[in-house]
Amino acid sequence: MVDEEVFECYVKAGRIVASILSDAHRIIRVGRRLIDICEEVESTIRNRGGNPAFPCNICIDHIAAHYTSPLGDYISIPDGSLVKLDVGVHIDGYIADGAVTVCFDDRYEKLVESVEEALDKAVKLMKPNVKVSEVGAIIQRVIRDRGFKPIANLTGHEIDRFNLHAGLSIPNIEVGTGRLKDGSVYAVEPFATVSNSIGSVVSSGDAYIFRCQHTRISGKNDETYRLMNILYSNFYSLPFAERWVLEMSVEGLDVSSVWRNLKKDRKLIFRYPVLVEAGRGLVAQSEHTILILDGEPYVLTGL
Ligand code: MN
Ligand code: MN
Repeated sequence: MVDEEVFECYVKAGRIVASILSDAHRIIRVGRRLIDICEEVESTIRNRGGNPAFPCNICIDHIAAHYTSPLGDYISIPDGSLVKLDVGVHIDGYIADGAVTVCFDDRYEKLVESVEEALDKAVKLMKPNVKVSEVGAIIQRVIRDRGFKPIANLTGHEIDRFNLHAGLSIPNIEVGTGRLKDGSVYAVEPFATVSNSIGSVVSSGDAYIFRCQHTRISGKNDETYRLMNILYSNFYSLPFAERWVLEMSVEGLDVSSVWRNLKKDRKLIFRYPVLVEAGRGLVAQSEHTILILDGEPYVLTGL
């Protein structure tokens, strides 16, 4: 169950996400550099008393998830594009996660509406004992009825303290086992693409977001382990941007060369490759974080 203090942390995290997402049309403008957007969003989070629960994600067109600017990113928002802004905030480890899609071509408006309507319908179902497959079924039905295709291998997720992907997955199609529980927190995130595309994502091979796989390591004092321990004490087991690591300065440590070695060790560092739609179809996303409280859905990231 959720006590008062924990509830306040979730509410505060959710409000910061909501206020940034409601400002998405000002933040995301054609011609603006992605790195400037990422940095603005991340500093807004900190200025409002939160911490990024993961790097600001900006995914354009067929890119579905896990893109954040690398250092020196020269890419700008293209005219006529479809842009997903996905923002996570934590207060003392209590995370809110939300996303919106901004559309610069009227022809894609219906695709965006399909994920927004799917999310609305799914949120109303978020009550104790509901099967996750029922949530997936409603998302799938709304998206299909509107003439589009859900992304089958991207899901929402349960959230726990300092744990972005905990326990249950919330599918975007009618699959999965498990039931929703009172007092738990879930991110619901319908993704859809055009009907003549494949409806799943694949890795692009690039990765700009990582996470520590291990807690502090002791007994070793080589540079790799030193950086590993610094990363863990900064980010715990939450995702971080490579950009953030390369901007660190640590006395007596050549951070960029040590990081280059450390990130190859998959036992210590988990990588999140950029995910693209398998048929290069355009992708829209909509996401809220919901706390099930006294049997009812409480939308933390809604205004
Ligand atoms: Mn998200
Ligand atoms: Mn999420």
